[in-house]
Amino acid sequence: MSFIDILQAVLSSLISLFSFLSSHKVENLLMLTCDGSYESKVVGISVGRKEKIQRMDRLDGPANIMIVSDLDFTMVDHDDPENLALLRFNALWEAYYRHNSLLVFSTGRSPTIYRELRKQKPLLTPDITIMSVGTEITYGESMEPDDGWKQYLDRKWNREIVVEETAKFPELVLQSETEQRPHKVSFYLEKEKASKVIEALSKCLEKLELDVKIIYSNGIAVDILPQAAGKGRALEFLLEKLKTDGLKPLNTLVCGDSGNDAELFGVPEVYGVLVSNALEELVQWYAENARGNPQIIHATDRCAAGIMQAIGNFSLGPNVSPRDISDLMFKRKILSPGHVVVMFYLFYERWRRGEVENSEPNIQNLRSILHPTGNFVHPSGVDRPMHQSIDTIVQLFGDKRGIDYRIWVDRMSFAEVSLSSWLVKFDKWELSGNELQGCSTKVLMNSKVDAPDELTWVHLHQTWLNGSGGKDDMPWFI
Ligand SMILES: [Mg+2]
Repeated sequence: MSFIDILQAVLSSLISLFSFLSSHKVENLLMLTCDGSYESKVVGISVGRKEKIQRMDRLDGPANIMIVSDLDFTMVDHDDPENLALLRFNALWEAYYRHNSLLVFSTGRSPTIYRELRKQKPLLTPDITIMSVGTEITYGESMEPDDGWKQYLDRKWNREIVVEETAKFPELVLQSETEQRPHKVSFYLEKEKASKVIEALSKCLEKLELDVKIIYSNGIAVDILPQAAGKGRALEFLLEKLKTDGLKPLNTLVCGDSGNDAELFGVPEVYGVLVSNALEELVQWYAENARGNPQIIHATDRCAAGIMQAIGNFSLGPNVSPRDISDLMFKRKILSPGHVVVMFYLFYERWRRGEVENSEPNIQNLRSILHPTGNFVHPSGVDRPMHQSIDTIVQLFGDKRGIDYRIWVDRMSFAEVSLSSWLVKFDKWELSGNELQGCSTKVLMNSKVDAPDELTWVHLHQTWLNGSGGKDDMPWFI
C-alpha cells in the first residue's frame, strides 16, 4: 500500500467520523422535546402534550450574533447586477461568523418565490428562514416548518372571511396564487388609494371581530395576516424559543428597508439598521418612532453594505469583508480554518481574473498552502496529486479576465479531528459568465511542522452538489 493510499484511508475514515458526528448531533437535536410550558408562557396557549420542536442547532451554545435580515433591497440589491455588496457580506459571514452565529432571512416572499430568488442570487444558506411576512418559520437547509408557530397563528384567524370581505374592495388586486398562504392573503393596491382603502377595510374586519393585521409595503403590496403574525412577532417567538433553551443570542441585529420590516425594529433589545436605500414608509416610521434610539441607525450604505456598516457601528464583531482586503495571502493572522478557506478562494478568484500580481512570491504562497504530497479528488471522481493542481492553477493566471467570474463559499463548518488537524466542510460555488457550478467540499488541513500557526491543505475531496450545474467534462480546477 502506497503512502498516498494510507493517507487516503485515513482521510476516508476521518470523513466518516465527521459525517457520523454531524448526523448524530443533528439527530439528537431534532429529537429534542419540550413540555409545552414555553407555549403557555409565551403565547398564552397550552398545547397540552409534549411537542417535538425542530431546530437548527449547529452551535453548542448561544449564537455570538444573530442577523435577521429582510431580502429584497436589504440583503439583495436588485440594482447591483454584480451582487458585489452581497458577495462582500458572504465572505465576511463565512470567514468570521458562520461557525458561531446565526443567519436568519425574514422576507415577505412565499417559499416559492424565495426559492426563485435563491436561484437568481448568490445568497448564503440561512439557519432559519421566516417567510410570507412572518407567517412561516422554517429551520435549516431542509426548511423544516415550525408547527408550533402554525398552530398559534390558527387562533382567531379565519381565512375564508378575510377573502370574502376583501372581495368587496375592487381596488384590491389579488396577488398570484403562490403568494396566497395559509396565514396570509395578499393584494396589490395603488399608493394613492392605499390609506383610504386600508382604513375602510380595517373597520370592516373589525366589525366582524377578526383579529387581523394589515401591512402596506413597497408602496404597492397589502398583506392581511393574523394579528399575532408579522416579522416582529415571528422574531419574538424565535427569540423566546432560543431563550427557553438557554440559546438566546448574545446580540441580535435586524435589517430592513420597507414597511413590513418596521415591526422588527420594535422587538426588545435588538440592534437595528435601516439600509440607506430604505423606502419612505420605513424612514417615516423611523423619524416618528426611533430617531432617538441609539440601538437603531439609518445606514449611509446600501443593502448588504449597510448591514456591514451596522455591525461596525454597534461594535458587534469584524465588519471588514475579506473581499475588501488587498493582500489576501500575506501576513494575515489565521483566525480559523473557515477563514483560511475564504481567503484562499478569494485569492484564487483574483488569480484567475488577473487581479493580483503574477509573481514568484504569490506562486510560492500557493505552493505553501496546498501540500505537495497531498491529493485532490475531483468531483468527477478522478484522484490526482495536489502538486498537479498547483501547476494547473499557476497556468490559469488571468484566464477569466473580463468575465463575470466569482467564487463564494457557503455552509462552512470545521472540527478539530486530532491535534493540529482539521476537517473542514463547505459548499463552493463558482460563477463564470452565466454558468454556475457548485460542489460539496471536504478538506483535511494540518498545521505546518515548521510554522504551527499556518495550515496546509493535505487532502481535498469534492462532489457535485445536486442540481448545481456541475458536469464532469466542464473545466473545474479546485
Ligand atoms: Mg425589502
